[in-house]
Amino acid sequence: MADSTFRAPKGTRDILWPDSARWRALVDAFADVVGAAGYTQVVPPMFEHVEVFHRLGDATDVVSKEMYEFLDKGGRNIALRPEQTASVVRAFAEHRPVVPWKVWYAGPNFRYERAQKGRFRQFDQVGVEALGPDDPHLDAEVIALAWRFYERLGLRRVTLLVNSLGNPEDRARYVEALTAHFADNRDALSEASRSTLERNPLRVLDSKRPEDADLVAAAPRMDDHLSDDAAEHFARVCGALDAVDIPYRVAPGLVRGLDYYLRTTFEFVAEALDAAQDAVGGGGRYDRLAEEMGAPPTPGVGFALGVDRTLLACDAEGVFDAPEAAVDVFVVDTCGGDEAVLLTDEVRRAGLRADRAWDGRSMKAQMKAADRSNAAVALIVGEEERAAGTVTVRDLRGDAGQQAVARGDVVEVLRSRLAPPTAT
Ligand code: AMP
Repeated sequence: MADSTFRAPKGTRDILWPDSARWRALVDAFADVVGAAGYTQVVPPMFEHVEVFHRLGDATDVVSKEMYEFLDKGGRNIALRPEQTASVVRAFAEHRPVVPWKVWYAGPNFRYERAQKGRFRQFDQVGVEALGPDDPHLDAEVIALAWRFYERLGLRRVTLLVNSLGNPEDRARYVEALTAHFADNRDALSEASRSTLERNPLRVLDSKRPEDADLVAAAPRMDDHLSDDAAEHFARVCGALDAVDIPYRVAPGLVRGLDYYLRTTFEFVAEALDAAQDAVGGGGRYDRLAEEMGAPPTPGVGFALGVDRTLLACDAEGVFDAPEAAVDVFVVDTCGGDEAVLLTDEVRRAGLRADRAWDGRSMKAQMKAADRSNAAVALIVGEEERAAGTVTVRDLRGDAGQQAVARGDVVEVLRSRLAPPTAT
């Protein structure tokens, strides 16, 4: 068997501590930010009947090239979810909750993509979906939540791009104009864009190939094809963003990868990342999707943010650091270990994080383990301490030295030593 058998498959990876702690802290921060706006969590399945995802557009790469599809043992055509909006809207159509239905999610998606830095075959997203209202202020709320979340992480170099793809009729008229423009100049297009033109004309606007640049720059603009109604909706979205001081740039060429978007679309770009993976999140309106899944006509808007890329952006900006230690306290017991059983239990029950050494090792070996744990404080119990009914509390990372503490006062002393410094 090949050496790669016992390695994570291409495009996947194991997330070990401290990255795993950071990953969870990110999801916790997200849950906090969106929870404060009344969004509740939804946990959809990781696989669905493949038809659910065909609603993303058969011509999109996500559906036509990248989907993990298989027949299950019951002969059902199943796909691992490549994103979660379709699943959440399917859940909406199935359960018909009261609107507005404002939900958030976090979890992995699967796409058979070319694996590279910031692009995986299994990757996590956090996101929200809001179904019911057609109100442009809801679009602005959703966009603002993503923005406030980035702020909460400490990211400063994120650019928000917004656009409107218009009502379905506007979008159709625009696609027609765009197709005519590119078809008239077909020979000047790159080969890749000629093939994109046939499948999905809007996506030609995404081409980064130098030979396409002039034609893309000269292409008809979406904003010239907006109906009054769609233009008014977009103006109100922008007005609400202005009102809450969220900076953005209108990007008439922003079309995004999935077919279901109508009217408002947006994307967040991390300036600190390389252009190949600088999109950290995006979303928009998908007013027809619920209806296509069998629900009464219900507008919707949402976004998905890539967890892996957002963390890469945090690395690049030097914010939202990984924790340095998994525990605060390390118990060193050279009397056989019984004291360590009691002390760790007591400290943990007091809400502090504590670990200990194992296998009855020497004082020196245990102190080395304590150092390696990066805990702030060691609790040391030797024969002397045991006889005196005390514990030695030793500072491992600062210059507070050590003190002998009565056994009954340990938790109190730890609490005061470990209290976060008050800001001045
Ligand atoms: P999408 O669902 O394609 O609109 O993507 C939303 C966000 O998810 C992107 O901006 C990326 O941050 C992230 N993302 C999408 N595909 C991948 C992938 N293959 N690997 C890592 N992150 C991804």
